[in-house]
Amino acid sequence: MGIKVAKFGGSSVADGIQLRKIKDIIEADSDRKYIVVSAPGKRYDGDNKITDLLYLCGTHMEHNLPYDQLLQVVTDRFMAVKVNLGVDVDIDGEFAVIRENMRKGCSADYLASRGEYLNALLVAAFLGYDFVDTAGLIKFDGKGRLLLEETDEALRSELASHERAVIPGFYGTNAETGRVRTFSRGGSDITGALVARAVKADIYENWTDVSGFLKADPRIVAGAKPISRISYKELRELSYMGASVLHEDAIYPAKLANIPINIRNTNAPDDMGTIITAEHEGGADDVITGIAGKKDFTVIAIYKNMMSNERGFVRRILTIMEDFDVDFEHIPSGIDTVSVVVDTQQLNGNRDDLMEAFERQLNPDSMEVFDDIALIATVGCGMSRRHGVSAALFTALAEAEVNIRMIDQGSSEINIIVGVENKDFEKAIRAIYDAFEGK
Ligand code: ASP
Repeated sequence: MGIKVAKFGGSSVADGIQLRKIKDIIEADSDRKYIVVSAPGKRYDGDNKITDLLYLCGTHMEHNLPYDQLLQVVTDRFMAVKVNLGVDVDIDGEFAVIRENMRKGCSADYLASRGEYLNALLVAAFLGYDFVDTAGLIKFDGKGRLLLEETDEALRSELASHERAVIPGFYGTNAETGRVRTFSRGGSDITGALVARAVKADIYENWTDVSGFLKADPRIVAGAKPISRISYKELRELSYMGASVLHEDAIYPAKLANIPINIRNTNAPDDMGTIITAEHEGGADDVITGIAGKKDFTVIAIYKNMMSNERGFVRRILTIMEDFDVDFEHIPSGIDTVSVVVDTQQLNGNRDDLMEAFERQLNPDSMEVFDDIALIATVGCGMSRRHGVSAALFTALAEAEVNIRMIDQGSSEINIIVGVENKDFEKAIRAIYDAFEGK
């Protein structure tokens, strides 16, 4: 017998229908002993997430606006689930406590955390599992940073006395004040990873509404194939470029304990989803693991004769950018040129001032600015051991008549990043996908 931690996201626990599905999933494998739940998410397009409604209540409270009706919508949703499942949980009593705390001026974090708290109470009753609150177990310091080892210790000793438990995601407490503190949005994924580490799980299952990661965005590549295995490192590259299914901070605790994460689909439980592990060698046909990208970057190209002899030139560029709070994405360079690639939106507030500072402090021969650039990352551990991968990629882009504006390959050789014009973004992704996966 092993131990599996199963975390169910908002859409998997949105109402009674979904909760019956998760019960079937949990009961199908007796190793699924520790269950982490999000707050109820959207039941249909245009519906509200409970967490959003709770934050809205908090904003009303803060501005002394009436929030009774809003809170009633939240109460009604939990009431409906309770009735639907026929469980004995005192929802009215719980909301009386919440209202009282609101009257006393509770924090936005406390209020937001109630979605996970109440949902975990309902799910625990429905499954006949113990309810284990994470308040006091998941610990943050005064600055809101997770106290990883203390949390591990506390979760480990508490969960040792529960053979099966349902645990609310998303929050813990500030170890200094004892007040509730949440992770950033989507943070129940992190709770799941922390629980998995604490109970030394064999696997951390993360149940959501998609069957894992796909090799490309299905809105761009119709019928994109699923990624069956991916390494933490590859995932990080793809997530950074916009492929988001899992909270980024959920990877670290799982990686630390070497626990594979399996992304699964509550609505298609027979699909095996994506397994995320420390290493991924890539199969024989598996040259690339995935493609992801983002639009709307700006490239600032700075030219200066004999730049290569001028020590500290790049440092000065970066210091100026730091002063203007603009992050750089990439810095491709040549002998007498350096380009910085930045997020256009970040640049926009400061564009003129930043350019003026470059002009004044760097004294370049000339500068050029190219807007409407999209970055595309082609990621795969399998790429480094093969010849001709970049040749195939660039040939595919040339054949599709895509003009490449920038190339950057990390020395780890697990990704090749190309900059193309925004208008060619979709076409370029399709061309790369077809070159490697289309056959
Ligand atoms: N309910 C929280 C949110 O919507 C946390 C989570 O679902 O992971 O962000």
